[in-house]
Amino acid sequence: MRIGVPRGLLFFYYYPLWEAFFRTLGVELVVSAPTSRPLFNRGVVLASDETCLPVKVFFGHIESLREKQVDYVFLPRMVSMEKRTYLCPKLLGFPEVVTSVITDLPPVLTANFNLRKNPKELDKALHELGKQLGYNARRIQQAVEAAREAQARFEDLLLGGQEFDLAVKGRSAERNTAEVALRIGVLGHAYMLYDRFTSLDIKGKLSKFGTEIITAETVDSGEIDHYMEQLPKKMFWSHSKRILGAAYSFIDDPRVHGLVHLSCFGCGPDSMIADMVERACRRRGKPFMVLTLDEHTGEAGLVTRLEAYVDMLRRRVEVENNISAHG
Ligand code: SF4
Repeated sequence: MRIGVPRGLLFFYYYPLWEAFFRTLGVELVVSAPTSRPLFNRGVVLASDETCLPVKVFFGHIESLREKQVDYVFLPRMVSMEKRTYLCPKLLGFPEVVTSVITDLPPVLTANFNLRKNPKELDKALHELGKQLGYNARRIQQAVEAAREAQARFEDLLLGGQEFDLAVKGRSAERNTAEVALRIGVLGHAYMLYDRFTSLDIKGKLSKFGTEIITAETVDSGEIDHYMEQLPKKMFWSHSKRILGAAYSFIDDPRVHGLVHLSCFGCGPDSMIADMVERACRRRGKPFMVLTLDEHTGEAGLVTRLEAYVDMLRRRVEVENNISAHG
């Protein structure tokens, strides 16, 4: 049996969970190719104009699976993955929205993941998937355990600063621990930051300017919760909570010289987060830049802005170093 997985949106958060689950059951996963210009353009044509960029790209990935001769397309309905927080509502109705737009898809394989009240709901959702494919409870339980283990390893690797491309395969590489002159906290949804084409490879570009990049995935959940507890109102969007908590942690960290927020045009949570981070940065005198990407964003203008930002950070650090050297 072959199951198609679109390489977009929650792929960047949960692929190791799905991969280990289906592999242990003996199912072959067929992942759509990395985002490319034709795939991107197809997604933009298929999705509604008003939706955000990552959802448009996701449509392109789903459509590309039509040619892969898969038995099912996997589109889990992930409502909530931790206590009393939710994923974006745009993701919840995906199985219905997608099948109404792309009518000749293979059958959709789905299950509800709603861990809002109880983390054990994860096992229940995976058992439901396994049962739909005709496996017995014992075999499914083995797959559930493998899936949990793979996901925990992936998250640990990201937390330790491993690159996404390695961590998603459960692999790690020796990290360069040499002191860097500039460290930048790059904020954004994993499906933007780690998709090179959609993000215009912002991470790679900043690295080429000689900076070290850290992302929200490197911040411990306890630290995120610590910052979130200080807000007057609970942040109930999971991804926004992580991005905002990481931003506050970077602002407090003197080893982080500046913050860049890669925001998606058409994303409500992102516009709110960008405003909150900007205010906090202004209060603390930390340089902050928002880059809002949509399907029309050009690479040349972006490089100029990044270059100017990095130059400004470099000059600030030089001035600060001079002041501390000469008292
Ligand atoms: S959180 Fe924002 S970017 Fe992500 S799916 Fe929702 S609207 Fe789109």
